Amino acid sequence: MSRTSDLAAALDRLSQRLDDACRAAGRNRDEVALLPVTKYFPASDVQILYDLGCREFGESREQEASVKVTEVHFANRVSWHMIGRLQRNKARAVARWASSVHSVDSVRLANALARGVAEARDAGERSSAMRVFVQVSLDDDPSRGGIAAGDLIELADTVGGTSELELAGLMAIPPLGVEPDRAFSRLAELQTLVTSVHPEATGLSAGMSNDLEIAVRHGSTCVRVGTALMGPRPIISD
Ligand SMILES: *Cc1c(COP(=O)(O)O)cnc(C)c1O
Repeated sequence: MSRTSDLAAALDRLSQRLDDACRAAGRNRDEVALLPVTKYFPASDVQILYDLGCREFGESREQEASVKVTEVHFANRVSWHMIGRLQRNKARAVARWASSVHSVDSVRLANALARGVAEARDAGERSSAMRVFVQVSLDDDPSRGGIAAGDLIELADTVGGTSELELAGLMAIPPLGVEPDRAFSRLAELQTLVTSVHPEATGLSAGMSNDLEIAVRHGSTCVRVGTALMGPRPIISD
């Protein structure tokens, strides 16, 4: 099979999974967006997915993504999401290509992104604010990224109070060893807390290839899917 028919078939299967998950959860299908995660895969795959109708793409490594963005001619007609861990010294570069960042987990990173957005605006490289999902840790283990739940509101306030940034909602990855059902249920509680202060923050970036049904049950509005769409990734070095 060609890469195009592989990706078309995988996209169909995923779309069916999302239909079923939404039906089972009693939710409307249009409440949940599919974000194809194209990290480690070439720009030619992004091109195929674009031709199949995808208009948003997730990337997790700044250097890889900033190159890929220049390799696809329709880059300015799609939205790129930075979903992976992000060091502050990459914030300025990310602000050039990412419409959204799903992995903002400190006030210092939020401020660095805001400065990056302002610079990119001044340079004519972007016109919109950056949509920010605050990544929250569900076990307070900082190694997997995410801000501690106790510091969540302070960070949401910072993002919400910065004109270069727009508070889109929350993101989390279930910790190793914690059932996704428990993890996403905790995430939903934290979202209720955040939306009581920031009613606009209704987005919930939750669910990946293996747990998207559970995430949809707990209110996900964006599932980030790599493997189930693209196939297995090459060996990961970071
Ligand atoms: C790679 C990645 C995904 C996709 O994971 P799959 O299990 O391959 O679907 C989702 N979210 C983040 C933050 C990632 O880095």
